[in-house]
Amino acid sequence: MSRVFNFSAGPSMLPVPVLEKAAAEILDYNGSGQSVMEMSHRSAVFEEILHTTQALFAEVMGLPSNYKVLFFQGGATAQFAAIPLCFMQKNNKADFIITGQWAKKAYQEAGKYGAARAVASSADKTFSYIPKTKPEDFDPDADYAYICMNNTIYGTHYNTLPDTGKVPLIADISSCFLSEELDVTKFALVYGGAQKNVAPAGVTVCIVREDFIGPENPLTPVILSYKTNLDNDSMYNTPPCWNIYMCKLMLEWIRDNGGLKGIHEMNLRKANLFYDYLDSSEMFSGTVVKEDRSLMNIPFVTGDPELDKKFVAEATAAGFVNLKGHRTVGGMRASIYNAMPYEGVAGLVEFMKDFEKRQ
Ligand SMILES: *Cc1c(COP(=O)(O)O)cnc(C)c1O
Repeated sequence: MSRVFNFSAGPSMLPVPVLEKAAAEILDYNGSGQSVMEMSHRSAVFEEILHTTQALFAEVMGLPSNYKVLFFQGGATAQFAAIPLCFMQKNNKADFIITGQWAKKAYQEAGKYGAARAVASSADKTFSYIPKTKPEDFDPDADYAYICMNNTIYGTHYNTLPDTGKVPLIADISSCFLSEELDVTKFALVYGGAQKNVAPAGVTVCIVREDFIGPENPLTPVILSYKTNLDNDSMYNTPPCWNIYMCKLMLEWIRDNGGLKGIHEMNLRKANLFYDYLDSSEMFSGTVVKEDRSLMNIPFVTGDPELDKKFVAEATAAGFVNLKGHRTVGGMRASIYNAMPYEGVAGLVEFMKDFEKRQ
């Protein structure tokens, strides 16, 4: 067996020990005589998995008890509708910072249900930076302010959160979930699809301050309702049982590897190695301003689309796969989530140095 280093933006790599644990338990989970894929979600054995996973999120992320962990389906994209339906309900207004395609899609979806307003945007420079905002930029009557914390496509990250004054902050953390310590008390809600950094595609994890949940739009589909989800402990209907179990294994892996502090240090080591090389290379360069760089997604270019193509093809043949950049940025993108080993990044950097020498 030979495994590639997969630099995909998502779905993406999972840690080998997590996959091995899942494999070892696939026929018989914990003496139950069945796979987690097969068991009733109403069984005691699954309820234990659900509650352990919620408790592990709280432990690993240091969540205060008034923050609840809810599991939804429909990806982060379902939340683009669920959030305005459930939370844009006092004054029917929300403020958005447009830092890329995912923030824009959330903003457009919210616009179907109320007055969504774009406060700032970095579209003028292909989203290569995080726009600066002041508290006065936000409408004090907005029901919430919305950001995409890590911009998967463009490789930017909020290294400092915007000060929104009294306006509650919501963040899409899909592509930086569990990659660093996060003070959730700065947010009313953070959420993310699992398939970037947490588990396989199919579950969306929403961490919400309990008192933020209130009256919802009466037309909210029951499957998108935060109140229904909370009242039924993520089990109004069949939850994505297997994916929740995979979150559990990932959280145990993080806990056993120094927690989020340890994981963040590892992520810094990997990203610094990559950025240091990009900054010293004559051929490759990063596309993002230094202060807003992401530790997770690193877009880079040679400036010559033909050379980019050649690089991607040769890298693929060498076992460094899924490096082609997003069509709106061009070039390449290396997504180096938690599960990407240091050797994967070091190997890619060595390969790039060699490629550069050979041209
Ligand atoms: C991938 C991604 C999404 C979309 O997620 P789906 O689960 O495919 O709906 C939204 N936001 C961010 C930041 C992403 O990286």
